[in-house]
Amino acid sequence: MANTKKRKVTEENKTFNPARTDSFAFTADETGSPVCLICNEKFANNKKSNVARHFQNDHAAFAQKYLEGDERKKAILELMRKANLSKNHFKKWVMSANLTPYASFVAA
Ligand SMILES: [Zn+2]
Repeated sequence: MANTKKRKVTEENKTFNPARTDSFAFTADETGSPVCLICNEKFANNKKSNVARHFQNDHAAFAQKYLEGDERKKAILELMRKANLSKNHFKKWVMSANLTPYASFVAA
């Protein structure tokens, strides 16, 4: 019985839970590892306690300024928008051969 419980927790830690974006300002990178949207710190696993502790300890001001709910969601959406922008800039710079940088934007 204890084994089933353990396996479930491990499985959960492997995949990024999108609910953590709204609560803790985390997103997932290409490999599914959580990345902090505020300071870009990357975590090796998806343990909720790690992500939550980082947010509450390192970004207490953000947590206080934007209370969980609509306010925080809005602030986090804005962070994601900025993160995507810089990601696109980076991609544009790295893959200069690809001359359609705004194609994905238009499609979205
Ligand atoms: Zn952070």
